[in-house]
Formats: sequence, C-alpha cells, structure tokens
Amino acid sequence: MNIILLGPPGAGKGTQAARLEASRGMVQLSTGDMLRAAVAQGSPVGLQAKAVMEAGELVSDAIVSALIGERLDAIAGKGAIFDGYPRTRAQAEALDLLLTERGQKLEHVIELEVDEDALVERITGRFSCARCGAPYHDKYNLPKVDGTCDVCGSREFKRRPDDNEETVRTRLAEYRAKTAPILPYYEERGLVRRVDGMAPVEEVAAAVDAILDGAA
Ligand SMILES: [Zn+2]
Repeated sequence: MNIILLGPPGAGKGTQAARLEASRGMVQLSTGDMLRAAVAQGSPVGLQAKAVMEAGELVSDAIVSALIGERLDAIAGKGAIFDGYPRTRAQAEALDLLLTERGQKLEHVIELEVDEDALVERITGRFSCARCGAPYHDKYNLPKVDGTCDVCGSREFKRRPDDNEETVRTRLAEYRAKTAPILPYYEERGLVRRVDGMAPVEEVAAAVDAILDGAA
C-alpha cells in the first residue's frame, strides 16, 4: 500500500506518518531525507545528485525519480508514505510510472484538512512553562492559578518565535501553492481522501486507518 500524505504545517502529518511507520511498517519517503541519505551512502544516484548540488544547481526530476526508484526497491514493498513529493504534475506522472514498473500503485492521497483561522488560533495561543515545558494555551488551557505553572509552580513561561500569525499564514499559503498543481491530477483519478486534521489526534488516526483498511 502506497500513499501520499498531505497536510499543512500544524495538521499533524508528522504524527500520523510516524504512527503508520510504527503500526504498519510503512516507510515515510521525504525527498529531502532521501537525497541526504543517498549522498551520504554514495549510491550511484547519490553521487550524481551530489555533483549537481555542489555545482549549485537544482536536482532534476530525472535524478529525483531515480532516487525514489532506488528507495522503492530498498523498502521492498513495505508501503511508502510519500511526503513532499510529488510537487508537479510531471512528477506525479513519473511516480505513477515508477510504481507501475514495480507492479505497484498509489492507493490513496490523504489530505489532512485544517480550518485555517482555527489553526492560527491554535498555534498562536500556545505557550509553555519555561522550567518544565508543560504546555498551555491562551484560550483552551490556561494554568489553574493565573501565571503559575500547574506542574512545577514556575512563574516563567515562553513562546516559540514561529508561533505568530504572520508566519503561520505564510506557511499555509506555501502549502496551498505546493499542492495546487497535484491535487487536480489525483482528484481526476478519484484518489483524494480528506480527513479533518483539526479533530483530536486519535480521531484523525482512526479516520486514516479506516481509509487504509478500505472501511471508509
Ligand atoms: Zn512548569
């Protein structure tokens, strides 16, 4: 079973991918990781990619395809979770070909959907205890005693610099721009399944499992 997992930052994609790796033995294939691994291992494709990158050029679709073919052979039918690939229609067609050549196919494109305003509220409201790391939220999870950590009693809190509205909105826009070219390609084939990424993590997991098990 091979799938593409899509979702903007904050939708819980990493959590779901890690869970599928642990529970089903699937392997997450992200192009960045694959490229780094191939270069480090010095595989034929890795050496080619290294030369291109050292020349300051972009790694071509042909090299990326060869790399994915190499990885698909290495994971030997365990089931791939494609992450960050394909990005274009040409890459989507190349992926179909790579899978067909191996007697496999892409079963599902699962998109973790988010309500963007709610996601912004969720992310920008987060803060945590500076001493013990206990997580809090301005609206949904304030300390019981104002300004005092429930767990350790510390009165110091911190926020991540990236958890601001502008950064979150920019990332959401980047995500939409990246997926826009490939979603129609998979919609035409009836492969796209949408899951509410705003639901509690166990519900998201159950919905993803139902799709993979053919029960939804
Ligand atoms: Zn604390």
